[in-house]
Parts: sequence; structure tokens; C-alpha cells
Amino acid sequence: MSLPASGRVAVFDRPNAPFRIAEYPLRPPAPGEVLVRVAMSTICRSDIHSYQGHRPSPCPGLLGHEIIGRIEALGPGIERDMRGEPLAPGDRVTWSEYFVPGPHYLGDALDLPQKTPGVDKYGHLSADALPHHHGGFAEYCYILPRSWILRLPDELSDEEATPINCGVATMIAATEAANLRIGDTVVVQGLGLLGLYGAAIARARGASRVIGLDTQAPRRARAADFGVDVAIDPGAPDPHAALESVRTACGSLGADAVLEVCGDSAVIPAGLDLLRIGGSYVLAGVVNPSSMVSLDANLVLRKCLTLCGVHNYHPRHLAQALDFVVAYRRRYPFHALVDGRYPLDRVGDAMADAAARRVLRAAIVP
Ligand SMILES: [Zn+2]
Repeated sequence: MSLPASGRVAVFDRPNAPFRIAEYPLRPPAPGEVLVRVAMSTICRSDIHSYQGHRPSPCPGLLGHEIIGRIEALGPGIERDMRGEPLAPGDRVTWSEYFVPGPHYLGDALDLPQKTPGVDKYGHLSADALPHHHGGFAEYCYILPRSWILRLPDELSDEEATPINCGVATMIAATEAANLRIGDTVVVQGLGLLGLYGAAIARARGASRVIGLDTQAPRRARAADFGVDVAIDPGAPDPHAALESVRTACGSLGADAVLEVCGDSAVIPAGLDLLRIGGSYVLAGVVNPSSMVSLDANLVLRKCLTLCGVHNYHPRHLAQALDFVVAYRRRYPFHALVDGRYPLDRVGDAMADAAARRVLRAAIVP
């Protein structure tokens, strides 16, 4: 198959500046690389943070890390996905949102390959950085060496498959970190895409009661479809009264686990307060630097709480995320979570709609 000489990418030159289409050269994939034609890339909340300048993002910025694509060409030395399934041009694949520079003690001995020093992420680099095509808002993307790749089964729609490598895998990691058990009561702070997948995965892990918190009425209205028993507005009629109704919903012992997926550190004290003795609090949404919070550390000590953070998920979570979506796609309407489609030259509109929460997950379809 002959490659085109170049491919289009949507870039921005400074935070909040209009997107423009740029064209960069394509070359055959190097050893260990796979060149894919992007099938779909969804806008994650962290893309919005990067675009709005809430965290460092080199420019001209090429965003998009929730991506799937069809293999255009395989580089030398790569023939199979992370589970040993053969890969061929035309196959539709997902891959880890990050790639690491090489082996390291953190991965080999401490089982945290996702935190290898020098780890980088798709959709986080300047488009000027070689090989230029390393983000989702583009026609093509190179899957770089030391990424974890999975071939996607045909039965999954693009809408079901695209969030697997960020939103779904992150919630597999978060619910694993929460050590959920059969019969647990789980509180989910934030009912965006992460929260809805988190609720469904908590159910699959055995939770008998899931309580969801979100200030947005449309999000609460959708929550029941994803396994949330009770959806509560944490601000109404006032935060104190709302907290009391959540407490009542949790039962007399309190929640076994609370998952933070709203990105607002101000919710952390209330989340800790809702936990039972020995409960677990997992941070998965506060991805911005300087997410400061003031809390009573004595509460953590006295209640013997576990407080953990989840970032970049382990490669096994990617495989589990795919298996979860395949197994539960008839039970939960995952396809409906990606509710806006935009061509590459309308990334700006997609970003605006996503930022204003007019859509839950905007998809770029180049
Ligand atoms: Zn993401």
C-alpha cells in the first residue's frame, strides 16, 4: 500500500486560539511503530484543560489521546497486539494513551510501567515534534514503540471503542484501586463519562448500591441507565442538606468506596466524610496541577481510610477495559455517550460544545 506524502492535523497556536489545519509529512513506520488512519478521536476533559491553558501544552498543540484507527502500515518487528493476536493492515485498533521510553525499575520491579520516567502521551506534544502525527485530531497517527496495542472486535461501534483507552481504562484502574467487593456501596462524585463508566464497572465488580453526585440535571437523568441507583445534586437545596441525603442513601455504616471523577478538589472532604471506617477514596479526576484542598487529616487516620490516586492506568487495565465494554455493551448504552460527531476542520466547534457541556463526548471523525 502506498502512503500519501502528508497528512492533515488540527493544531492550536496558544491556549484558546482558533484551531487551524496544518499538513505534515508522512513516512513509513519505523521499527516498532504502527501507522494508523484515525477512525475516531473523542475529546476528553483533559484535552479541554490543555486547550484552555490550565496545564502546560506545547504549541502548535496537537490534542487527542482517546483514539482508535485502522492500521495503514506496520513497522518492522511488530506483528501482534499486546495479547498476541496478529495485526494486519486494515485492522481497527486501540492503544494505550501513553508510551514509555524503555524498561525501568518502576515498570519491571514495581509494576508501574505507566509511570516510567520520560513517559509521554498521545495528544500532548507539539505537532512540530517528530514524527508530527502523534495525536487524535488528525488524519493519521503513529503508534509509537512501547505502546500497548489491542485489535478491536468488529462488533464494537467506533463510539463504543474510542473511549476505551482513556475513560474506560481509567475507571477499571480506579475501581480496582477502590478494592470493590460484592455488596459494596459506592459513591461516584461526577457523572460525566468517567462517572458513568465507573458506575457500570462498580456494578460489574459486585457493588449493590451506587450513588452518583452531579450538579447537572441532564447528567443525573442519564445516570440510571448506567447502574446508578440514586443521583443527587450535591449543591441542592444546599450542600449541607445534600450531604445529609447522600449519607442517608449510603446507610448507617457509610460508603465502602468513593470515586472522585469530577476534577474538583473541593469535593474531597465531603467524599472522605461519606466513607465508612476502613473505606477507600480514589482520586481519578483531579488531573490539573495545584488542585489544592484543605482537609482534616485526623479523619483519615481515625477512620483508617485508604486514599489513593490513579494516573495513566496499567496496561492490563486497557485489556480489561476492552473486555468490559464487549461484555456489557448490551446492558449499558455506551454508544450513546459519544453524542456529537465533527469533521477535522470543525475541531473548534467540537471543543466549544464539549467545554460548554452541550455534548458529553464530542468525537472528531477525520
Ligand atoms: Zn483522557
